[in-house]
Amino acid sequence: MRTIGILSFDDPKIDGSRKILHVDMDAFFASVEQRDNPAYRGKPVIIARHPKENSGKGVVSTASYEARKYGVHSAMSAAEAYRLCPQGIFVSGNYALYREVSEQVRGIFKRYTDIIEPLSIDEAFLDVTDNKKGIPYAMDVAKEIQETIYKELNLTCSIGVSYNKFIAKLASDYQKPFGMTVITPKRAIPFLEQLPIEDFYGVGTRSAEKMHELDIYTGADLKKLSQDECIRYFGKAGLALYERVRGVDDRPVKVTRIRKSIGKERTFYPFLYHDNEVEETLRKLANSVSDALGKRDMHGKVVTLKFRNADFETVTRQTSLVDAISN
Ligand SMILES: [Mg+2]
Repeated sequence: MRTIGILSFDDPKIDGSRKILHVDMDAFFASVEQRDNPAYRGKPVIIARHPKENSGKGVVSTASYEARKYGVHSAMSAAEAYRLCPQGIFVSGNYALYREVSEQVRGIFKRYTDIIEPLSIDEAFLDVTDNKKGIPYAMDVAKEIQETIYKELNLTCSIGVSYNKFIAKLASDYQKPFGMTVITPKRAIPFLEQLPIEDFYGVGTRSAEKMHELDIYTGADLKKLSQDECIRYFGKAGLALYERVRGVDDRPVKVTRIRKSIGKERTFYPFLYHDNEVEETLRKLANSVSDALGKRDMHGKVVTLKFRNADFETVTRQTSLVDAISN
């Protein structure tokens, strides 16, 4: 068994009021494929249909760590991935299997807590403050979960341990793969101050550009803005940023299930009469669904179109795609 990397900034006891884990499976889909197909191990595995079979239209949903060395990453077009890594093993995803494995991971979480909030198929927040096994240190819970997933499912994950969701999420990213990072309240402030602004969860490319224009490159720079300035520059998100950079995030771990579908529908009055009106409207709705998918980093394989006429008759048409798409 590989040794588990532990980067502890401080005493392992989290002395805040809550103990939150963020568990993130390492290169999840690709790792499942490598686990089940020995020939793929140690090789660059790219979860996307081979661009030659699919006129280059596929999108990479996961790249194994070997493939990442070539610059291949998720959300990249399969054609681009092929240019960077022609020797890559392209595998069209087996999403039913990944969902099943995700449920097995969830089953392991449930031995410790029922307060589980999945962010996607391969990552979740866990509140282990009052865990079922009565383990006092959050870091020990994290270690057990990481070892159990490895032993029972033969997969690795990285875990961030802290006193709130924002910092736990950053922490799980800090050391990957098979890493564990513990950030106690005492260490949170220096950790956030040195953090590049791009790494703040919720700061997209556009906000990052805006920050650079304001000479903000790290958490420490961001901290120089007053609360009013934060709101003035970044709107509603500004208030959250003001709090987060100070290590404040009171959002609870919400017990939810992963969303399985995203849709957009509208009723029109006056009615739409012309084909081009319908087409234009459809395009707008499709764009907003695509944005919603993008925000959640989700892809879909089944596209459903619902249509209702003036007599309230509803017709739906559905098609299953070969590759999961997001736009
Ligand atoms: Mg992951």
